[in-house]
Amino acid sequence: MKRGNPDKTQPSPPDAAADFFTRSLMRWHKHDNHRTMPWKGERDPYRIWLSEIILQQTRVEQGWAYYERFIRTYPDVRSLAAAPDAEVFKLWEGLGYYARCRNLLKAARQVVSDHGGVFPPDHGAILALQGVGPYTAAAVSSFAFGLPHAVVDGNVLRVLARYFGVQESVDEGPVRRRLEAWAQRLLYREDPGAYNQAIMDFGATVCKPASPKCAECPLADGCQAFRLSCQDELPVRTAKPARRLRWMDYVIPVFGHELPLRERTGRDVWRHLFEPILIESPMPTDETELCAHPMLLAMNGGSAPGVYECSDPYVQLLTHQQISGRFLVFRPVTRPLLPDGYQWVDIAELPSVALPRHVRQFFDRHSSLSAG
Ligand code: SF4
Repeated sequence: MKRGNPDKTQPSPPDAAADFFTRSLMRWHKHDNHRTMPWKGERDPYRIWLSEIILQQTRVEQGWAYYERFIRTYPDVRSLAAAPDAEVFKLWEGLGYYARCRNLLKAARQVVSDHGGVFPPDHGAILALQGVGPYTAAAVSSFAFGLPHAVVDGNVLRVLARYFGVQESVDEGPVRRRLEAWAQRLLYREDPGAYNQAIMDFGATVCKPASPKCAECPLADGCQAFRLSCQDELPVRTAKPARRLRWMDYVIPVFGHELPLRERTGRDVWRHLFEPILIESPMPTDETELCAHPMLLAMNGGSAPGVYECSDPYVQLLTHQQISGRFLVFRPVTRPLLPDGYQWVDIAELPSVALPRHVRQFFDRHSSLSAG
């Protein structure tokens, strides 16, 4: 069996175990892999790249609809590259992790400017695209062009750590590099795309994070975790640092049929999306403190609003942050002077404005805002 080039700096998995792994996995893929995905078998590098970017940190069920919407709106990389930023952000709205959307646009424009609008059939050139990491580069290279590059993500690390009985944390650099070298060694070179699809599907449906299906697993005879009954303890992961806690309350003065929004800038979360007047506090605030905030008093002629609606707290979990807060809506009798950066927006236009998901959810639940 032909294999990927081994990394000479890393110890290799035993040949017999490696052979058994690849043969069994490919046999399972041919006869027993029934996982369906909308982009399975896709050979168009644009579509593969798009699906991979959308699926980063997104469940397949959620990403599927976005993928289809993007393909309908931008059927090729040139149409995406030529699209206005605001239009693409609007289409991305709700997926979160907006850095992905910014990178999507930059990469599409790179393909047009550097490669004449054609995805390069070269792993290094694909890896050089904005927002494309080793996993996505391997996926596009192997699925679209049959290039011999093994995908390595959390699924693959789990399968390899269990099969080879790796007791060290897969988050440690040397361990991860060793497993990446092994993954490359295990690659089935006759069909790298099929191999990558096989190991991704196998990790998602058989060697799952919880309750792996060891009783029906074609790799069980060679699996160290199964032999030692430690499937549930592997892979070992390093504890993640606690999320940073932030409190972000929003104040929404509704005047007639308008309310103020501003575009978020800087290097913070939700860049390029729009938000109501933000009050960020170092500590959680209650409703009374929010009503007495100087920014709100300044907008309401120096006094707290007598009548207002305050939402229940929302909580947004991001990768490294937990953001909580509430929305306070009031109706001033005179048009308030807005803090710098905000502008009045007609409430009827909200559906076409790109908003963070929690802000969109709030507006969706308060569709009667314009009824003064
Ligand atoms: S035997 Fe169990 S733990 Fe081992 S590879 Fe198969 S499903 Fe995973």
